[in-house]
Amino acid sequence: MHVIHWFRRDLRLTDNTALAAACKTGEVVPIYIASDWKTHHRWTGAARQEFLCGCLRSLAQNIGAVGGGLIVRRGQADEELEKIVRETKAGAIYFNRDPDPFGRAMEKRVEEMARRLGVEVRGFKDVAIHERDEVLTASDTSFRVFTPYSKAWMKLEKPTPQPAIKRLATPPNISSLPIPTLAEWGLQSSAQIPEPGEKAARKRLADFLRGSIFEYGARRNIPAGQSTSLISADLRHGTLSIREIYDKCSRLMAQPIDATQRKSVFTYINELVWREFYMQILWHFPEVLEHEFNAKWRGLKWRDADKNFVRWCNGETGFPIVDAGMRQLNATGFMHNRLRMITAMFLTKDLHIDWRHGERYFMQRLIDGDIGSNNGGWQWSSGTGADAAPYFRIQNPWSQTARFDPDGAFIKQWVPELSDVDATKFMEPPAGLRLAKNYPLPMVDHAIERDVTMEMFRQDFKD
Ligand code: FAD
Repeated sequence: MHVIHWFRRDLRLTDNTALAAACKTGEVVPIYIASDWKTHHRWTGAARQEFLCGCLRSLAQNIGAVGGGLIVRRGQADEELEKIVRETKAGAIYFNRDPDPFGRAMEKRVEEMARRLGVEVRGFKDVAIHERDEVLTASDTSFRVFTPYSKAWMKLEKPTPQPAIKRLATPPNISSLPIPTLAEWGLQSSAQIPEPGEKAARKRLADFLRGSIFEYGARRNIPAGQSTSLISADLRHGTLSIREIYDKCSRLMAQPIDATQRKSVFTYINELVWREFYMQILWHFPEVLEHEFNAKWRGLKWRDADKNFVRWCNGETGFPIVDAGMRQLNATGFMHNRLRMITAMFLTKDLHIDWRHGERYFMQRLIDGDIGSNNGGWQWSSGTGADAAPYFRIQNPWSQTARFDPDGAFIKQWVPELSDVDATKFMEPPAGLRLAKNYPLPMVDHAIERDVTMEMFRQDFKD
């Protein structure tokens, strides 16, 4: 019997749950369906699509190397899968489940189609170590706050990763489109993205686990240089397995390392848990994609996107640390986590612009753009989300600079106008004098805007 493996956000051969199950049954039809909605969706990002195209090229090569051939089709998944079932007389469709509401809606359509055709259909857990209802409170409800969720997550038994597929036999003569290109989606990108694909992803992970992970606890908030693993886009596209990462980290913990190193590895694992926390928030509360997670804050009087929003997008706010972060994002499709928090808080708490505008802009730019983590990060930063500390967590961009970029290395890398400026000047607002001839004055006064935000939340609270 042929089994169709429908590739989605699992673009790898190593420890791919549904693919491994399909290979055990015999001949596999590995298919990727390029969806047309990506040409017009509000979250489509050219850099991420470029990364995706690269992952697909690498996947096709890897499948070729083990004896198979990736089939590419374009259109709506259920319709294209139905065509493939009829063409190949496949007896089953296997796929790894997608945690987001759009992916889940398509899974339902595929399941209905398969039932209509009398074909077996199986969805597997793969994208997360623990998904859906697996991590619940003592009273069987979903967690709304991270720390207790993480503690409960840590206690559960973890699955063992499986080795890479060694052989994948695909039936002959199945027509395939070429691997999609950015131009086909009508997109262009000039972002300098990292090398996509499973091989490059594995190298990134291996490099990190060899050294930097042991300093992660101390360095992860420093944006200059490489202080973090830089694998978020690999997890987003499934060129790395989350089970394998967890397993490798656990093995490091079991080695004779010192207490600081062990704490660092644990901190890293805990960050991976954030990803699953936001996935389960999206699973239990899909309304967060439109509304504030904390219902108390629905209806806050946010401002609309205006010329201030454009200055934020372009990294022209006059706040060096904010501008450096936004320029990093625009140039590379990536932004360091500390900067994501600083820039998101600046948009919402200094400019009072609706977090949904920032969320959308990030999705359009990030190569790791993931609707769960992005929405979670934005709601956390705007004070409306799953955060134990409420709205009055307002980061001061000047003191954040002093703490996390004290020598201005990150700012100077991304804001070349400031390369000759003394770094101490990035830590306090300039008193009416530009930091450089061609660099703007801060567009707002942080102390004043902080009070405006506090008042905005307090007003609403009274209502
Ligand atoms: P590391 O520090 O090395 O962490 C390892 C992995 O843990 C990451 O790759 C990621 O999968 C996970 N992780 C770490 N921190 C978080 C977190 N706070 N939330 C969820 N997962 C986390 N992450 C995305 O993957 N996609 C997004 O679209 C996204 N949008 C964000 C938007 C905002 C406003 C904020 C504040 C954070 C967002 N994050 C997002 C989380 C985080 O910034 C990135 O995961 C991280 O910067 C990726 O870099 P890294 O792989 O070097 O991370």
